Amino acid sequence: MKKTGFLFDKRFMLHKTSSFHPEIPKRLSAIYQGIEQSGLIPELFLIKGEKAELKWIETVHDKNYIKNFKDACFKSKETFQSPDNQICTDSYETALLAVGGIIKTIDLIMQNNINNAFCAVRPPGHHAEKAKAIGFCYFNNIAIAAKYLQIKWNIKNIGIIDFDVHHGNGTQNIFERDPTVFYYSIHEHPSFAFPGTGREFEYGEEKGYGFTLNSPVLPGQGDSKYMELIKNDMVPGFERFKPEIILVSTGFDAHMDDEMSDIMLSTKCFSWIMEQIIKIADKYSNSRLVSILEGGYCLKRLPELAKNHVSIMINCAKDRIKDKV
Ligand SMILES: [Zn+2]
Repeated sequence: MKKTGFLFDKRFMLHKTSSFHPEIPKRLSAIYQGIEQSGLIPELFLIKGEKAELKWIETVHDKNYIKNFKDACFKSKETFQSPDNQICTDSYETALLAVGGIIKTIDLIMQNNINNAFCAVRPPGHHAEKAKAIGFCYFNNIAIAAKYLQIKWNIKNIGIIDFDVHHGNGTQNIFERDPTVFYYSIHEHPSFAFPGTGREFEYGEEKGYGFTLNSPVLPGQGDSKYMELIKNDMVPGFERFKPEIILVSTGFDAHMDDEMSDIMLSTKCFSWIMEQIIKIADKYSNSRLVSILEGGYCLKRLPELAKNHVSIMINCAKDRIKDKV
């Protein structure tokens, strides 16, 4: 039986922000502890970070933007482009390590060593646009992953599911004219109005029209609304598109105890969402799935949420074996 991959590297914690910032290195130690303390490490295929070659970052981001980010870090600036995007001298290198680790994970999947994987990386990526760093994001990890799959592995149809509580404006923006990448996002809108995009009438542009799908959810609507929209929007959307692989922007910030949102999802609902995503991957994508960490800021809840997330990936692989016997 193939193991589930787990990308984790202590060096992802070298990207430091101030103690008042929600996107802190402790998020990753909380995630690792949750997985380790429940005894799951031996069941996982462990993957470390690796510095990505610049040519892969350049498939999504402008050369100048990359250079400016690098310079800002090396010159010890405190922020890059927006006050929310705090940096330190190691932020650029950490962002490269995260992308390289994801690329290595993709290679393992495409070489058939693992079926699925959880990439616990920092900094997050789904808000980053071609030449714009916002929402704690610098390189759009998931967008680079999609480009890498297309260029290196000749994958044509890529499905992206984004269940972070914030809309992945960067990912949508990068692929909104591209019919080879289907982007689906379920998120809170409006709340603090960040980032303010992802309305139900945004379907993509030009050739990409119909390949973007958004399910905005009002504050407080919780589990039942999420379950309804996932059944009625996400599942039929992917039935039409039939992706060869699923990439997931995994955010735990819709949880009821996460101060970043007012959606009020239960812990159980996160597990249910992941089960629906895995069903789609099993049906259309030969079970190939890469989950990439975005947000999730409640240090008390992250251990359990991450443990459940990974357990579902492991157990689905076991169930597949049982079904075949
Ligand atoms: Zn978020």
